Amino acid sequence: MSDDAAFIPARDHSVRSVVSGCETCAHWTDVTLIGPCGADATGLPASLHCESCSAERPAHWPEHVDDMGHLDGCPLCDYHTLAIQKDFNARFGLAVVVITFGLLLFLQLPLAWTLAGLVAVALLDWALLRLVIKRLLICYRCKALFRGFLPGERCRPFDLATWEAHVPAGDD
Ligand SMILES: [Zn+2]
Ligand SMILES: [Zn+2]
Repeated sequence: MSDDAAFIPARDHSVRSVVSGCETCAHWTDVTLIGPCGADATGLPASLHCESCSAERPAHWPEHVDDMGHLDGCPLCDYHTLAIQKDFNARFGLAVVVITFGLLLFLQLPLAWTLAGLVAVALLDWALLRLVIKRLLICYRCKALFRGFLPGERCRPFDLATWEAHVPAGDD
C-alpha cells in the first residue's frame, strides 16, 4: 500500500446509498438502498429512477456486488475501477483549522502555545480522519457515488490523473 492508501479510513457507512447522474436531464439523485453494509446484491433495484425527469437508469448490481458486500466496478456504466475516497466535508475541515487558528491569535498566547495548539489541531484532524470520516466509492467514468459498500479488489485510492482523464469533453 502506498502512503496515500494509508490515509483512507477503513470505515464504511452503515446504510447503503448511491448518488447518480441522470443520462437524460443530468440531475443527480441520491437513493438509499436496501440492506446494510456487508449485505449482498439481494433486493438492490434493477434500475435507478431520476427524481427530476423520471428516467430509469439500469443498475447491474449482481455483476458487481459479491456476497460480502464488496463493490467492484460500476453497476451503472460498467467501468472497471472505482476510486476509494474520504467522505469528508472539506469546508468543515477548513472551518476547524481557521477557527482554531483565529482563536489562538486572539488569545495572544506565547508562540510555543500557539504551536502546541496547531499540533493539537493536526492531531484532531488525524483522529477525525480515522475515527469519524468514512469512505465512499466513486466511479471514474460516470462519477456516481456509492456509500455503504466495501471496496472490492480493483478499487484504488483516488487518483486525480485518472479522474481528469475521464472528464467528458466540453465539460470544462
Ligand atoms: Zn432525469
Ligand atoms: Zn460508472
